[in-house]
Amino acid sequence: MLEKFERYPLTFGPTPIEKLDRLGKHLGGKVEIYAKREDCNSGLAFGGNKLRKLEYIIPEAIASKADTLVSIGGVQSNHTRMVAAVAAKIGMKCLLVQESWVPHEDAVYDRVGNILLSRIMGAEVHIVDEGFDIGIRRSWEQALADVKSRGGTPYAIPAGASVHKYGGLGYVGFAEEVRAQEKQLGFAFDYVVVCTVTGSTHAGMLVGFCRDGRQRNVIGIDASATPAQTKAQVLDIARHTAKLIDLGLEIVEDDVVLLEEYAYPCYGIPSEQTKEAIRLCARLEGMITDPVYEGKSMQGMVDLIKKGFFPEGSRVLYAHLGGAPAINGYSYTFREG
Ligand SMILES: *Cc1c(COP(=O)(O)O)cnc(C)c1O
Repeated sequence: MLEKFERYPLTFGPTPIEKLDRLGKHLGGKVEIYAKREDCNSGLAFGGNKLRKLEYIIPEAIASKADTLVSIGGVQSNHTRMVAAVAAKIGMKCLLVQESWVPHEDAVYDRVGNILLSRIMGAEVHIVDEGFDIGIRRSWEQALADVKSRGGTPYAIPAGASVHKYGGLGYVGFAEEVRAQEKQLGFAFDYVVVCTVTGSTHAGMLVGFCRDGRQRNVIGIDASATPAQTKAQVLDIARHTAKLIDLGLEIVEDDVVLLEEYAYPCYGIPSEQTKEAIRLCARLEGMITDPVYEGKSMQGMVDLIKKGFFPEGSRVLYAHLGGAPAINGYSYTFREG
């Protein structure tokens, strides 16, 4: 489905699928749990889902003769860390707008983890006092104007690389990759669990899985705590992406399955239940999930399994999208483990 699009390789290739046996047994053994390790997808600054998206965006950035990648996110944004890594790798400058998306006051929050890595990789980091919003921001437009006024040529990458015209393509590729892996494994997954915030990961998967009618088996776990906006953005990106790849099928609202009940208390702050899910998965599987994204989708998956949401015998694929570096910003939260 993606042959006509240019791709700049930033990842190692297909990501491994790992069975989470101990977690599955702990939760009653009625469903099989697997993880697709998108968090181990690259050697670029710890990897993660944004690289799969950027593979289809970077060819245009290079062709545009830009010299600076400009992007935006929260202070502990994984996405901006990935943009910084890509800029280093392709020899561009990088300007990042880091907003105050999370009301979190760990003493080292703006010094460690993602923002630390971006600084080490040479990105220019602007910390801006604006709250959470997955849309297009004034501060970002200001950053683009700043680059131009210095004589540079910016290339704009929106938050989470999502509302970019090619933002959904990478995760269409994920669905194709899973289909190929299913052939090798000799079985198909019944559900995919994915964390959803800016929307193009979920949207791309949904479009990719439309081909075999599995789009509603992609279970999005909202971590934005602004689910109406996130759901609308997933639908928009999915429709746009479907057109772009000539899918020939209409995406309807009900194709976007987004569960809203795990994002509390707000974006970037883990609930007690999120923290429990992070510990559970770490202690049974040695797999690290973060307090902002994957901890919430892990919490969601664990809760859904406990509630019997997945029929007995289901094979559930947890998409691990990365994000572990942010956990360094939560040293006080986990001071006792
Ligand atoms: C960005 C991100 C997500 C959410 O993906 P979207 O495409 O923004 O919905 C989930 N997990 C991690 C670790 C992320 O960095």
